[in-house]
Amino acid sequence: MIRPCEERSDDLKPNLPPLREVIAAHGLSASKALGQNFLLDEQLLARIAAIPGDLADRAVLEIGPGPGGLTRALLRAGARVTAVEMDRRCLPALAELAQAFPGKLRVIEGDALKIDHAALMGEPYAVVANLPYNVGTALFTGWLSGAAWPPAWTSLTLMFQQEVAQRIVAAPGSAAYGRLAVLAQWRARPRLAMKVHRSAFTPPPKVMSAVVHVEPAEMPAGVAARVLEKVTEAAFGQRRKMLRQSLKALPGAIAALDTLDIDSQRRAETLSVAEFVGIARVLTA
Ligand code: SAM
Repeated sequence: MIRPCEERSDDLKPNLPPLREVIAAHGLSASKALGQNFLLDEQLLARIAAIPGDLADRAVLEIGPGPGGLTRALLRAGARVTAVEMDRRCLPALAELAQAFPGKLRVIEGDALKIDHAALMGEPYAVVANLPYNVGTALFTGWLSGAAWPPAWTSLTLMFQQEVAQRIVAAPGSAAYGRLAVLAQWRARPRLAMKVHRSAFTPPPKVMSAVVHVEPAEMPAGVAARVLEKVTEAAFGQRRKMLRQSLKALPGAIAALDTLDIDSQRRAETLSVAEFVGIARVLTA
């Protein structure tokens, strides 16, 4: 039984049972299909919850709370948390956590890919999540796409497979640089905030993980997001080819290279994010 906040201990936080006990008490064996790799180290969870900065009274959207390890770290940091979880088995454990932090945790049962996050939150919010790997990239591209900018979210603090995290922060010229880097960097600032060893998870996944923190930046003027997405899709769709080949099918793209004095013999991976933005700006006009 979790003691609610009113019966708080001297550090003003409710005493919570160890996460292993919560998992055992509710029979939460990890489901591979749902991408369940749980974090149980409360110090590590507190460090992740600290990455977005002071969360006191801030609205936080967490995707996939599972047994609630990251959720309790966010609540202890003073956040008002909305947690979207698909696995019904986790709901009783999360209900206990909601009792321990009255009025601070709202749990939504559902698929985060099918929910309108901005409408659900109704106010600016930070996203903090140890994402299910099978849906992580789809959620991430969803948060970074779209015409409206700045977005409703104020920051994204997300656990990814390390290889995906590296693709998000990659610089031109590296093997990891591609569409994901341009999408993440053209109007936002991503940074690799923390590497997490696979042994920190229960069960451990096959690969290492890393937390990426993203904050929105100013959107370059005169560029339609949809156009930039088309340019990067074409350019990196054939990343080994020269631009004059890979961009051939995109009307006006080769002329845009001329206008911008970009050598059409270069390959996509050598172009800076600013150069992609430049091409998209000419095409948008
Ligand atoms: N946050 C917990 C932690 O850090 O220990 C669990 C993280 S686990 C990697 C991913 C969680 O996302 C699981 O609880 C899983 O049930 C949930 N999940 C998977 N797909 C989901 C989806 N489409 N929408 C919402 N939750 C989902």
